[in-house]
Amino acid sequence: MKIAIYPGSFDPITYGHLDILENASKIFDKVIIAVAYNSAKRSFLTIEERLKLINESIKDIPNVSADSFEGLTVEYAKRQGAKVLIRGLRAVSDFEFEMQLSQTNSALYDEIKTVFLTTKPEYNFISSSTIKEILQNGGDISKFVPKPVYDYLTQNKQ
Ligand code: ADP
Repeated sequence: MKIAIYPGSFDPITYGHLDILENASKIFDKVIIAVAYNSAKRSFLTIEERLKLINESIKDIPNVSADSFEGLTVEYAKRQGAKVLIRGLRAVSDFEFEMQLSQTNSALYDEIKTVFLTTKPEYNFISSSTIKEILQNGGDISKFVPKPVYDYLTQNKQ
């Protein structure tokens, strides 16, 4: 069984993330979207809020589940029996960081491979940080995030 981990902040999950997940779910038997605790990043939503919104957004994709983890991504992958990490690429600007991350993870655990996926063009530019900015300035985020995220953020965070 080919298990892949899709690690990230997902603060909040967007249509960009969801598109990557849908593609990954067609390639792998099981995909775990894993919210990473990152003490260096100031978060907008709690891990629990992010997981709740992820679970509501992925309910139609049968072989995807959600989880959270602390510590090294490769150690989490080992615990799950996964040898593949999924990451998304938007622009060339993502490339340098993602390349470094992928090589670091391989150096830590030589069996791990990172697979990069892209989204449909209409979701390519979406990022969690621009969504937070649009929301905080009273803009409409309905085109960028799944309905459960839209409902939750407009009711609780605007
Ligand atoms: P991180 O904080 O680890 O970058 P994110 O939640 O911001 O976590 O993103 C997780 C992964 O999804 C990253 O590989 C990121 O490049 C990718 N990603 C996010 N949004 C998009 C998008 N619109 N198109 C393609 N990839 C994306």
